[in-house]
Parts: sequence; C-alpha cells; structure tokens
Amino acid sequence: MVNAFPIAQLGEPVLRQPATLIEDSQAPWVQSLIDRLLVTLHQSNGVGIAAPQVAQSHRLFVVASRPNPRYPNAPLMNPTAMLNPRLISHTEDTVRDWEGCLSIPGIRGLVPRYSAIEVEYQTREGELHQQILEGFVARIFQHELDHLNGVVFLDRLESVQDIITDQVYLQRLQTPTPQAQKSIGS
Ligand code: ZN
Repeated sequence: MVNAFPIAQLGEPVLRQPATLIEDSQAPWVQSLIDRLLVTLHQSNGVGIAAPQVAQSHRLFVVASRPNPRYPNAPLMNPTAMLNPRLISHTEDTVRDWEGCLSIPGIRGLVPRYSAIEVEYQTREGELHQQILEGFVARIFQHELDHLNGVVFLDRLESVQDIITDQVYLQRLQTPTPQAQKSIGS
C-alpha cells in the first residue's frame, strides 16, 4: 500500500530550493516517489504536484488535467509523471488566469503564463518526450516547473491586488465576472 505524503506549506525552505536532476529514472526510489506523488495528488484533488511539494527536492512532477467548471474544455488526461522537464520554447503572448496551489491553501492569484509552450521531459519509463502544450495543461506545466526552481505562483503576480480568497473565488464561479467569462471561453 502506498501512502500519501504530507504537503509542504509556504514557508518551508524546501519550496524555495532548486531541485536536483534525476539521473536514473528507473531507480526504485524514483518509481516509488512517482507512485506516492500520484496517490498524494489524487487525495488532494489537485491537477498537478511537484516533488518539492512533498519535501523531495528532485526534478519531477505529475500533471493531471481534467475538465472542471472553470476549464470545461480542459483535456482529460491520465496523470502523467514528467522527469527532468524543460521548457524548450514558448509563445510571446501570455494569458492571465486564476491559480491555486496545494502548498498555499486558501488563496488564488491571477497569474500570467505563456499560452502555448514546447516542452521536453522523460517519462517514468525513461523515454525522452517532446510535445506542445496549450491552455490549461501549459499553465499546469509552467506552475509545476516553477516549483522545481523554488518559485511559487505568488512570485509571478503583477500586483498583490491579484490575490483573492478561495471563498471569493468560488463565489465568482457562481456569478461569473466578465473576466471569468472570458477565460472560460478561451
Ligand atoms: Zn503549486
């Protein structure tokens, strides 16, 4: 049986450290770290989680996009482990949208991210994979890649006024503002 990890919270130094490269994707400790990340992500209802968020400072995260009220068109993808991920290229334009973080509970921030990116990562089977990511999945990737560099979404905000509480965020979902309507359509 695989147990979930406790999730590191903002203020814990591990969230501010650059994570180290994984040299052998097939090492048993790497495979078991992936399994525990998957269980932890599932239990926390997140769409992504990075190894530093469970106090394991290694370059690995899991992306698990699925449709939700704010992104009804988000692709449903099997949770995918990405090892030693890299951003190869990106669009010039950025899109601002709300993000939360399992390590920063209770608030959301309006974060600019590249709208489309080309990425490279190793799969848990050890294969090198390149692909283009857009929209919601591109956003998750950039959020999780930041975690591997000791960066959290708060660092990306253009203004502290772009922070709202979860409670207000959820209220806005029920009565969409023009901003929210715009992002749902994109
Ligand atoms: Zn996060």
